[in-house]
Amino acid sequence: MKKTIRDYDLKGKRVIIRVDFNVPIQDGEITDDNRIKASLETIRYAIRHQAKVILMSHLGRIKTEEDKLTNTLEPVALRLSELLDQEIIFIDETRGKLLEDTISELKEKEVLLIENTRFEDLNDQAESQNNEELGKYWASLGDIFINDAFGTSHRSHASNVGIASNLANGIGFLIEKELKALEKTIQRPRHPFTVILGGSKVSDKIKMIENLAKKADYILIGGGMAYTFLKASGIEIGSSLLDDEHLAFCQEMLEKYSDKIILPIDSVNALEIKENVETRECFINEIKENEIGLDIGNQTVKLFKQYLEKSKTIIWNGPLGCFEIEQFSSGTKKICEVLSRIDAKKIVGGGDTGAAIIQFGYEESVSHISTGGGASLKLLEGKKLPGIEIIENKK
Ligand code: AMP
Repeated sequence: MKKTIRDYDLKGKRVIIRVDFNVPIQDGEITDDNRIKASLETIRYAIRHQAKVILMSHLGRIKTEEDKLTNTLEPVALRLSELLDQEIIFIDETRGKLLEDTISELKEKEVLLIENTRFEDLNDQAESQNNEELGKYWASLGDIFINDAFGTSHRSHASNVGIASNLANGIGFLIEKELKALEKTIQRPRHPFTVILGGSKVSDKIKMIENLAKKADYILIGGGMAYTFLKASGIEIGSSLLDDEHLAFCQEMLEKYSDKIILPIDSVNALEIKENVETRECFINEIKENEIGLDIGNQTVKLFKQYLEKSKTIIWNGPLGCFEIEQFSSGTKKICEVLSRIDAKKIVGGGDTGAAIIQFGYEESVSHISTGGGASLKLLEGKKLPGIEIIENKK
């Protein structure tokens, strides 16, 4: 059992909480604040127990100076202040005198948010590569470290593993809840055990398939992911999403797990990814050269349904089409509907899949919506998460 925030006396202590505020922001506006809301329980607990609260999070990816303009946490500070109904002290830097001085003047129950931890990635990837000096520096700003960012706990970064290596530590309520919901399923999934994989981050998920295939009875692949597999099986996919680098790997998986990996048999296509565009549904071997496959078709929904209806454990990661656009939302919506009528343990992982389920009104029909897509899949693969492993065990 890992130590938790409850195991510490927080009064008067500088408590660094690593949260996951990696929310979608468009033109400075947060379009989905579920991740902020998911962190409130731990933050409120720290305030109630008279801590000096220091929050850290990453947001997006930072590769150039320009990325900083669109990935500042400032809008998050504003939203958080509305949700908590108290002022948030936002420091627009990740290190330096202003940050240090403000922390040393911080009073009990006050909340300070440090700028996007990934701004440090311009500094030789210091955050993402868990630079030792950075982890030590951030740890020097606090007395206790609480990791509550489940979504990044599968990565070893300076803002989780780095700080935890140098400070008394524990997990927050969100990670505690995630572990409770996921661990039993991982240790003893009831069979048939089916994984639904979709979304667009092909390279992130493709590697997990081998481990998942060892545990699951079926892997239903849709979304952008599917087209690399389809191409690997010899089907022409037109201008659909393709991860060239992993074609050989997909081919190998298809040969090795031909009885487990189930691919779409039809596709909804368009010439562009935008609202109100003309669409065409066709069998999978009829995609035209200039078409982009953007959703699974009705025949695939029926096929997937057959597998889902006999399953006792279902894990879903990644939407089955570009569900944000009405014309390509049908596959994801219909699979939500199918799931709502099935009596099984149903776990949904990943910000987008969770957002889709909530958007279509099926939130109540699943057992658990995980805030971490990659992290929940890693756990299900049977892997340890470094951001949680590093946390001290209870004596
Ligand atoms: P991920 O973060 O990997 O779960 O990817 C989520 C994103 O995948 C969503 O924004 C979807 O719009 C996108 N997506 C789903 N299906 C497709 C597709 N066929 N082609 C391109 N993107 C897709």
